[in-house]
Order: sequence, then structure tokens, then C-alpha cells
Amino acid sequence: MITNNSGLKEVIASRGLKPTAQRIIILDHLARNMKKHLTAEQIHGAMRKKTPMLSLTTVYNTLNSFVDAGLVTALTITGTEVRYEYTTVSHHHLLCKHCGRIIDIEIQCPNAERKSINGYRVDEVHGYFKGVCRDCMNKEHNQ
Ligand SMILES: [Zn+2]
Ligand SMILES: [Zn+2]
Repeated sequence: MITNNSGLKEVIASRGLKPTAQRIIILDHLARNMKKHLTAEQIHGAMRKKTPMLSLTTVYNTLNSFVDAGLVTALTITGTEVRYEYTTVSHHHLLCKHCGRIIDIEIQCPNAERKSINGYRVDEVHGYFKGVCRDCMNKEHNQ
């Protein structure tokens, strides 16, 4: 995964999008927070100091253009919000019901790379597990 700015410019252009300054800084922020699965509000909040002119609507529109272009994956694991991740390598997720963390699950899934099923075209495969993360289990254990 390319993370430097000129690299990001090329990545954005390679997907047929214009590499605007906003697109570059938002993709850069996602690239720096790979495992965090951020919401648009979190991205907007984190970027406000450096780029006060950036509106939440622009962040949403930019993220949607990345998702449409296949650069970013949108996760709806919580059911109430969308989380964004700069990768389109299919992997499953676990939502911790205690702390709300979303964790990448490294398992070999026989369906992860499927391109079709029963004659239907498959564009994305998502596996959502819900439970309790190791940290929260340890805390409970120690109480
Ligand atoms: Zn937890
Ligand atoms: Zn992930």
C-alpha cells in the first residue's frame, strides 16, 4: 500500500479520479490510520485543525468517491454508522460489544475472493463477527 503523498496522487489518478488536494489529504489520513476503521466524523474532526475549510459534506463526498472507485472499503458492522478503511483486500471484522472497537480478523475464508455466486456477480464480501475482544475479556477476568 502506497502512503506517501505523490504516491497517493498516482493511486487516486489511476482510479480515474482527479487528485484534488482534498482527496489527497483525506486518503493520506486514512493511510495513516489503517487499522482504525474511522467514521467520516472522526476523519473530519481530526483534520479540522490543519484544514479548517474542509466541511463534513466534502469529507463524505470524497469518501463516497473513493468507495465508488474501489480505493476504500465502507463497513457497516455497527448498523448505525459507516466506517472507512483504505484497503480493498477482503478481510473480515469483529465488533467488540463492550468497547466498540472494530478489529481485523485474519482467517482464511473460502468465500473472501469469490467473484460470483449462483450466477450472481459478487463485488464485495464482508464477514461481520460480534463479540468481546481479548482486552475486554482480560479486564472482566481480572475483576
Ligand atoms: Zn473490547
Ligand atoms: Zn479492516
